[in-house]
Amino acid sequence: MAKIKITFPDGNSKEYDSGVTGLQIAEEISKGLAREALAVEVNGEVWDLNRKISSDAALKKIEERMVEFSAKNVPYVREERKWEDAATYFKEKKDPYKLELLEELKGQQITFYHSGDFTDLCYGPHLATTAPIKAIKLLSVAGAYWRGSEKNKMLQRIYGVTFPNSKELDEHLFRLEEAKRRDHRKLGQELEIFLLTPAVGGGLPLWMPKGTIIRENLVDFLRIEQKKRGYDFVMTPHIANLDLYKTSGHYPYYKDSQFPPILMPDGEQYMLKPMNCPHHHQIYLAKPRSYRDLPVRLAEFGTVYRYEQSGEMNGLIRVRGFTQDDAHIYCAHDQLKHEIMSTVELTQLVFKTFGMEVKIRLSYRDDKNVEKYGGDAAFWEQAQREIKEVADEMKLDYFIGVGEASFYGPKIDFMVKDALGRTWQLGTVQVDYVMPERFQLEYTASDGKKHRPVIIHRAPFGSLERFIGILIEHFAGEFPLWLAPVQAAVLPITDQYAEYAKQVLEQLKEGGIRAEFDDRNEKIGYKIRDWELKKVPYMLVVGEKEKSGNTVSVRQHKKGDLGAMSREAFIANITDLVQRKSLTL
Ligand code: ZN
Repeated sequence: MAKIKITFPDGNSKEYDSGVTGLQIAEEISKGLAREALAVEVNGEVWDLNRKISSDAALKKIEERMVEFSAKNVPYVREERKWEDAATYFKEKKDPYKLELLEELKGQQITFYHSGDFTDLCYGPHLATTAPIKAIKLLSVAGAYWRGSEKNKMLQRIYGVTFPNSKELDEHLFRLEEAKRRDHRKLGQELEIFLLTPAVGGGLPLWMPKGTIIRENLVDFLRIEQKKRGYDFVMTPHIANLDLYKTSGHYPYYKDSQFPPILMPDGEQYMLKPMNCPHHHQIYLAKPRSYRDLPVRLAEFGTVYRYEQSGEMNGLIRVRGFTQDDAHIYCAHDQLKHEIMSTVELTQLVFKTFGMEVKIRLSYRDDKNVEKYGGDAAFWEQAQREIKEVADEMKLDYFIGVGEASFYGPKIDFMVKDALGRTWQLGTVQVDYVMPERFQLEYTASDGKKHRPVIIHRAPFGSLERFIGILIEHFAGEFPLWLAPVQAAVLPITDQYAEYAKQVLEQLKEGGIRAEFDDRNEKIGYKIRDWELKKVPYMLVVGEKEKSGNTVSVRQHKKGDLGAMSREAFIANITDLVQRKSLTL
């Protein structure tokens, strides 16, 4: 017979004899929810408490009690007490945790919240009563050290959400499930897009062949659009003299988020480039510029390095080395508006291409914290007015974010909604009057005098790494045809048709289609399921009928059989979808 003992932090324990189930134990613990159990011992063996309590059934029980309680329409009552009274109250309740918290609030007025017979220390605010809580879901249980320190006791933390109705709860749970299913770290590995390995270092992703195809297609797309708009491409190295960043102010201004300088034996100091801007400014400075040369638009897919803390890294979203789709536009004041409009138009085109909804934020400086920003008040006033005028003239749907500007100028930020309704800050367009001063940039105007140009910094994707991470989740790994690493797989029904399948493959490749050939000795049903998992848009099944008719049988991902068509018709169809960057097949 099992002997079971539950120990609580106040030293009390309860013993059970036989026939007690894990669920009953969890119920016991849940009854005393405020005093989490310390340990559960079965025949002298201590159970893994996390695992036992986290059983769905146990959480369900706790949920039911919460629903019962909320239906009673219990008010949350706020009460202020003198510190001494508060301390006495929790001493009587024998609550060591509240007493510990109170130690730090000595002498202050203490705020209590009462609901039913539970009293919490809290500043508030709270709901007036429990009544609006109509839908509850407990999501998980995890061990958590008291106040986040591993020197303290391990307590149990239960995570849950509540909503005013079950429809909103269901939507939330659906989005959570979808986010899990679409997680770019999981899909990135399954679909062989990128690799993060400690052998190379945290936050330094390696692009695998399939990921590189996606990346190159994005780069080509933007390169072509930028060339149409008069950009010139440049390339700059990954390290530079530290003095360059002292001039720009990036060092020591952003010192904490950069890799430390590289010190050479001869005393020279270099830095991994955290920004492309100062490099481009040098190219601008390489020759005298006249008003006839402006605007000068320098673009680069430039890789930069930032030191993210290890706890802050996250798949492709937060990395230590990434490539910006960067460009700097050097223009005269009277060209500024037109140039901003053109960059806004380009950025909008980019997000429309991926079917992403965009909201626009005009990011201003915080006038109460002027020391955080370069440049004087007149520059800021002018630059902020200019971007607002552009936004109004273009009839953009925007809102203003005070304190969101960068240190050298206000920005237009593109807040992009993905398929799950999550908002990401992606493309930015920034106006900069500070760097032209610092780098002494100038051009000769038509009056023969020297003037400072204005710089626009802009990056529609932001970083290729982060953008692709977001795209993986946005499309759930089912990329539109023009980005899909493999667009079609040719599957012979048996070995007999391998020769014909190879002919089809060659024809596809000649037609510029990324195709693979599956000659594994497996049943056709198995192959179809396998390519379905790889999320390949089309499978071309070939057997006797197709060979004699010189056709292919087309299967579309998730949709199934589309019937037979001539090889030429299939190629023409797919080429058209790719050229239009169609989001659907
Ligand atoms: Zn820049």
